[in-house]
Amino acid sequence: MLISVQAMPPEPPVQCNKNGCNLYNSYGVWGDRKDCHVQNVTYPTTEEELRLAVAYEIRTSSKSKLLRRLIDAVEEAGLSLVAAPYWEGVSVGGLVSTGAHGSSWWGKGGAVHDHIVGLSLIVPAKQSEGFAKIVKLEPKDQIFNAAKVSLGLLGVISRYDNRVPLNASGDGTYDFLGFQSNSILISKSIRATEKTMDNGRSLGGKCTMAASVLGNISSIKIGDFIRDVKKLRDLKPDNFCGVDIYNGFLIRFIRASEAYLGQPEDSVVVDFNYFRADDALTPRFNQDVWEEVEQLAFFKYGAKPHWAKNRNLAFLDVQKKYPNFNKFVAVKRQLDPQNLFSSGGLMRLYWERGCEE
Ligand SMILES: Cc1cc2nc3c(=O)[nH]c(=O)nc-3n(C[C@H](O)[C@H](O)[C@H](O)COP(=O)(O)OP(=O)(O)OC[C@H]3O[C@@H](n4cnc5c(N)ncnc54)[C@H](O)[C@@H]3O)c2cc1C
Repeated sequence: MLISVQAMPPEPPVQCNKNGCNLYNSYGVWGDRKDCHVQNVTYPTTEEELRLAVAYEIRTSSKSKLLRRLIDAVEEAGLSLVAAPYWEGVSVGGLVSTGAHGSSWWGKGGAVHDHIVGLSLIVPAKQSEGFAKIVKLEPKDQIFNAAKVSLGLLGVISRYDNRVPLNASGDGTYDFLGFQSNSILISKSIRATEKTMDNGRSLGGKCTMAASVLGNISSIKIGDFIRDVKKLRDLKPDNFCGVDIYNGFLIRFIRASEAYLGQPEDSVVVDFNYFRADDALTPRFNQDVWEEVEQLAFFKYGAKPHWAKNRNLAFLDVQKKYPNFNKFVAVKRQLDPQNLFSSGGLMRLYWERGCEE
């Protein structure tokens, strides 16, 4: 028997027609369920083209290398990245600037930016310098620790150098099931079944089958957090069934980081995904239970939200959770005094996200 399989990679994130371009994320919709219209798109292929694109944006008022391509290049040299997030569709600039991570307490740990030994940042410059300039940074530079996890607020990361220890053990196999190729039929039928159960508020249905919340909790407090969640679960175990469809609670590890907006201490990352309805106003199934889990993490145990995930409430008072937050703000003032790389006052701290970011 001959079975033919056709793979369909995700659509490009920017799609244009005669009315302009729309930016999509990997889930298909933004948190506010609105379209994200973009005026124009540039695909620079060299650092100089990227600098000119930044200069053009600055004078008149971009997606960089993808992780998959970096993995291929590293693999060609017979090496492997020490850490990477579990989805390869992200850009290297995007994952570095949001502090993305895999999982490890070994060596420098699971966050990608902690393995960087050099970085180029394209920042605003004077007219005489061509409106944008390339700043090359190394660990000895004072702003290196601000630039690593910089949320796109300091400029555009155009290049980074990563040092891989050659004595690392392991086979470099990617064995996380969540983002491997999957039949469209399976994805569609899971979504349809879940929609039906959600519309019918069917708890039983969720238990027979089964957007993302993610918090970094201090390794010291993680045991108490887990005990509290277990107490909540024991009140009515079925209420927890929904997360089983999305691999349950994922637990990962990251080491303390020197990046100003990285993790200040060894942390355990707790991550769970939930069904998001097509209509933004439809509450989550068992919303009270999941909000309780979020509140335990963010308010009782002081978890830090992932810079690229979570609902806005997770970012309440987030500045106070980072001892070096003010140092980051000082570097922002130094490199981008006119706030060209932000939208709004410091900056409604980046996370009133949706299309705007
Ligand atoms: C399916 C999926 C799985 C994920 N898995 C993980 C995971 O396992 N672990 C984890 O930690 N995270 C994970 N993430 C989060 C992901 O790492 C971040 O959302 C990352 O920012 C996505 O990269 P991007 O290229 O899409 O960035 P974008 O969404 O394009 O940008 C995110 C931010 O980075 C800034 N930025 C982008 N490029 C640059 C650049 N070149 N220079 C400076 N700033 C820049 C943007 O301004 C923006 O503020 C996942 C996300 C998805 C959608």
